[in-house]
Amino acid sequence: MNILFRNANIITHCERRLCDLLVQGEKISAIGNDLSADGADVVDCRGLNLLPGGVDPHAHLDLAMYGTVSSDDHYTGHRAAAFGGTTTVLDFTSQSRGGSLRGSIDDWYSKAEGNAAVDYSCHVNVTDFNSSVAAEIPSLPAQGLTTLKVFTAYNGRLRIGDDDIASVMRIAREQGMLVMLHAEDGDEIEALVGAALAAGKRKPIWHARTRPPRGEVLAGRRAIDLASDALAPLYVVHVTTAGLADNLYRARTRGVPVMGETCPHYLFFTEEHLKRPDGAKWVCSPPLRTVKDNMALWNALADGSIQTVGTDHCPFFFDGTKPIVYEDSPIAIAGKELGRKDFTLIPNGIPGIEHRLLLLWTFGVVSGRLSAMRFVELTASNPARIMGLYPRKGALLPGSDADIVLWDPAKQHTISASTAHMRTDYDLWEGVKLTGVPVRVYLRGRLLVDGERWLGRPGVGRFLHRQAGAPVL
Ligand SMILES: [Zn+2]
Repeated sequence: MNILFRNANIITHCERRLCDLLVQGEKISAIGNDLSADGADVVDCRGLNLLPGGVDPHAHLDLAMYGTVSSDDHYTGHRAAAFGGTTTVLDFTSQSRGGSLRGSIDDWYSKAEGNAAVDYSCHVNVTDFNSSVAAEIPSLPAQGLTTLKVFTAYNGRLRIGDDDIASVMRIAREQGMLVMLHAEDGDEIEALVGAALAAGKRKPIWHARTRPPRGEVLAGRRAIDLASDALAPLYVVHVTTAGLADNLYRARTRGVPVMGETCPHYLFFTEEHLKRPDGAKWVCSPPLRTVKDNMALWNALADGSIQTVGTDHCPFFFDGTKPIVYEDSPIAIAGKELGRKDFTLIPNGIPGIEHRLLLLWTFGVVSGRLSAMRFVELTASNPARIMGLYPRKGALLPGSDADIVLWDPAKQHTISASTAHMRTDYDLWEGVKLTGVPVRVYLRGRLLVDGERWLGRPGVGRFLHRQAGAPVL
């Protein structure tokens, strides 16, 4: 089916123009003035913005943690993403101890395939590095997988040593792949957690106090040095501190190929939220910081020090003993109540996949911190470019997938868990008022979201074969 979008205020990362856009089948075929197409469905876009579908570079769907699982799977998480204007979602594999990367990819694929409701891919976690894993990495780009993730925290579980990170970086550079980094100081965290528990400190605030900001800065700096030595591109996920944002800025000035991502919760909340009686809702890793960090991150988004906004969506119920109704059925999944008596047992993660574009629009564009083009760049085109998906995704060009968001910049909305689509029982932005929301969302020319109506279903999302050699922005 062909669709002609008429009189749309088209916004991409590089231009704004009032014109028409023609979709033929799954692709955009033309953009210009006074387009015509016999038999096409005509959508009058007067008063609406037309944006490329959002690309979320960072989510955790159906992820096992602390004896439970993140409460959105590839269907419910993708559905919530679509309601928020995101049409491509990347999550992660989980490598088991002694396991191969291939095995982890197969496990991930078996969860995603058949459930996916938007287009998708994954980053390949390298959490147990050895010579056979090293030998496997060069086979990944041919499978469309071009990004690897390493950790400097979670000792004994996810962390690999700095020497191994350096090896992963060298292999990645040779293969045109990108290394992503979770930057925290695992040694210091282990020591501080041990001391806190020994002193009887069990409340959620100790999650933040045992993961201090200096650990993120130090771990990030070490990795920047390794990337500089290896001449390998590095992408630091979920930057939370002014200190690391500043280090990224300075390394980039020196020509080190390093990029950064932050997430909405690090722009809005602080560790003070963890002191509340329901503080477990705000437990995520790295933890929330200070107002000064919030402001520094907004500035880093505006000045180009940070290239993307991902969600790190990793939802857990606040009280998983009480069911909610999701798509007409009751469901309860064990969640943050597991850590009611001990902060180290609270599943780490925050729901947010649905709100990324809405929050960035109201508090970025409407408030004057970001231009509308920069908004598109941070939420769609930069993630697509960095992750090897551009211009198929993140663009409005002839030949791009027709992933299109019609955005009503005047429409008001108040966030509430009762109306949001994420499968969890709370919303950190409850009561927050927004101006500007998506009113229609298309995936490859197919209408997925029409106001409050959901027209998608499990399995319509497609695995995306990504290209190696993506640019460093
Ligand atoms: Zn994450």
